[in-house]
Amino acid sequence: MSKFSVLILGNASASPTLTRGNTAQLINIDEQYYLMDCGEGTQIKLREHKIKLQRINHIFISHLHGDHYLGLIGLLQTMNLMGREKELNIYCPGNVREVVDINLKVSESQLRYSINYNTVNHKESEIVFEDDKVEVLTIPLKHRIACSGYLFREKKKPKRINPKAIKSYNVPKYFINKLKVGEDYINEEGEIIKNSRLTMDSLPSFSYAFCSDTKFYEPISNVINGVDLLYHEATFIDEHSDRAKKTFHSTAKQAGEMAKISNAKHLIIGHFSNRYPELNVLLKEARSVFKNTDLAAQGKTFNVDNNQ
Ligand SMILES: [Zn+2]
Ligand SMILES: [Zn+2]
Repeated sequence: MSKFSVLILGNASASPTLTRGNTAQLINIDEQYYLMDCGEGTQIKLREHKIKLQRINHIFISHLHGDHYLGLIGLLQTMNLMGREKELNIYCPGNVREVVDINLKVSESQLRYSINYNTVNHKESEIVFEDDKVEVLTIPLKHRIACSGYLFREKKKPKRINPKAIKSYNVPKYFINKLKVGEDYINEEGEIIKNSRLTMDSLPSFSYAFCSDTKFYEPISNVINGVDLLYHEATFIDEHSDRAKKTFHSTAKQAGEMAKISNAKHLIIGHFSNRYPELNVLLKEARSVFKNTDLAAQGKTFNVDNNQ
């Protein structure tokens, strides 16, 4: 059984508060961890959830505003102190390498492990990572500085073997992997056994889109169309839409609008301004446009593969 989940580690814009940390999420796809943004204090939040830091090999940073990356130096340092040797991959549309290097320089220190920096394309959607299970694409966003969202898309899964059928047709073990990718089986008598008689359809593949800081930007919908779970920032309520416009942020209603025009199945909103101690007002506004919306509440896990 595969797994695809998103753990919310922080959801505050600008400054963290006592109850809300800055943006960070942990994406788990089949026990592979991907860290999404790294606001201040992210390593503490990871520990709170008993996440082993060394299991993180890929860190995606949406942009270089402090509320999205100020936890990075601390995390990198702790990984070093804990003896990390494995290479770490960081993806960012800005020059995050300069930020890390200056910190190492002024402290006259070095990391024991190497970092592979990937400067991602924030103007056009492109694949920045893939393995046999998943591909990650950039989502061009419109913010004050270079800013990219990320779309995690599971690849087509292998077909499921019908154990009864392979037994009755005497399919040898070595052929099982070929059945999983759709090949027909030819037995010793030269008879063709159709793949469909030996397998069942593959399980569905799921997708998650993380849309960090951005004003309402329609082209996003082309990249994420039909996404299973959409995270979209919702910094302000409608009443403060002027402020949203000026600061290149979105309102909760606009987040709902994006979910609607991109045919998302489920929306979660976050990056809340500290001016709202009560978040239900944001939730209500988003739901008025897109019903299946939830708050990206800190500490909550959303299952992308069992997404209601
Ligand atoms: Zn921000
Ligand atoms: Zn920002």
